[in-house]
Amino acid sequence: MVLLPRLDAWFLLCTKPSFIMSTPATNGHAPNLSAFEGIDGADAEMRDVVIIGTGPAGWTAALYTARASLEPLVFMGPEPGGQLTTTTDVENYPGYPDGIMGPDMMQDFQAQAEQFGAESRYGVVTDVDFSERPYRLLVDEETLIHAQTVIVATGASARYLGLENEQRLLGHGVSACATCDGAFFRDETVAVVGGGDSAMEEAIFLTKFAKEVRVIHRRDELRASKIMQERAFDNDKITFVWDTEVVDVLGEDQVTGIEVINNNTEETYVMDDVTGLFLAIGHTPNTEPFTGWLDMDDSDYIETQPDSTYTNIPGVFACGDAQDHVYRQAVTAAGTGCMAAIDAERWLSEHGVIDEPRTETEYHAAPATASSNA
Ligand SMILES: Cc1cc2nc3c(=O)[nH]c(=O)nc-3n(C[C@H](O)[C@H](O)[C@H](O)COP(=O)(O)OP(=O)(O)OC[C@H]3O[C@@H](n4cnc5c(N)ncnc54)[C@H](O)[C@@H]3O)c2cc1C
Repeated sequence: MVLLPRLDAWFLLCTKPSFIMSTPATNGHAPNLSAFEGIDGADAEMRDVVIIGTGPAGWTAALYTARASLEPLVFMGPEPGGQLTTTTDVENYPGYPDGIMGPDMMQDFQAQAEQFGAESRYGVVTDVDFSERPYRLLVDEETLIHAQTVIVATGASARYLGLENEQRLLGHGVSACATCDGAFFRDETVAVVGGGDSAMEEAIFLTKFAKEVRVIHRRDELRASKIMQERAFDNDKITFVWDTEVVDVLGEDQVTGIEVINNNTEETYVMDDVTGLFLAIGHTPNTEPFTGWLDMDDSDYIETQPDSTYTNIPGVFACGDAQDHVYRQAVTAAGTGCMAAIDAERWLSEHGVIDEPRTETEYHAAPATASSNA
């Protein structure tokens, strides 16, 4: 296994007196083990697979590892069901020809994984210790779990403006995902908040459906790359409102307008033709507990090795939006969740924690009911 030499090197580093200084600091941060001080691990539960997160990636990893009889333990985290619980209709997940409500879809995911023996618990993984296997996870700052492998599926949170009505109208005209919700705004006027590449991409995408896309930006110039700016400026359906911020979202059950303020004149006014508000001010990957352990890019997305879900720590795998800043869709998250499960199962087998790995054929022939899994 390609990663073993790296693990060996890491343990060699740990034997030095300057252990803390030598730990593999990622993004310039050293791992923080102080949270584990005073935690008695004598009776800590030991699991072969712990999955952190219950969005499409986490539940898919749970489904596959449960079907492989690995009895995964799944932590729900601060948002059980993940981002899709904050939206209404999902029309682009295969298998639902009539579309489905986001929260209902995530209940289906959970039911399917639990049917095969996945065990889910409420709790947030607040700290990890990946210095030696079995790895240590601290849940809600107090409960210690030992894990032979860990699948990180903690997703990423879209950034919002923090307005009360924005949250109330989420999924009812307010969205942070043009790819997901753009088609609901055919021939309507929508606003996009943001000035970076993502905002330009979202705006251009929305012109396929909307009759006008108004980009609202708090400054008088964009942060987006020159090429993306040019594409947006060249698009007849896109207009720009400079030096302006959204201060309120209007509507009872559905967005009927937005209130904005001009930062130069401090004049507020209402755009009552806007029926869709798209936030494109970035995402924050939920990867803070893994800081200092897992390699991350400049925006704190977990880096995985090409064509796999392997992280820099052997036996720790990452999937879904926590490691994907490009596609960020439910189906891609589920796809990498499946990859992480298969990677974890093979890793456990190769390291002698479980018996022979199942072949692909055995995966397909895995037990069809929970009882036959017992
Ligand atoms: C408004 C909106 C609408 C969308 N609509 C669509 C759509 O129509 N179609 C589509 O394909 N995609 C849509 N998306 C995108 C889709 O929701 C995401 O791509 C997908 O949910 C990512 O799945 P994930 O499993 O990686 O993470 P998430 O769904 O973000 O789930 C992350 C999970 O990790 C848990 N977690 C986080 N931190 C911790 C921790 N420390 N300990 C334990 N658990 C933790 C959370 O509680 C959560 O359960 C939409 C997104 C938004 C915001």
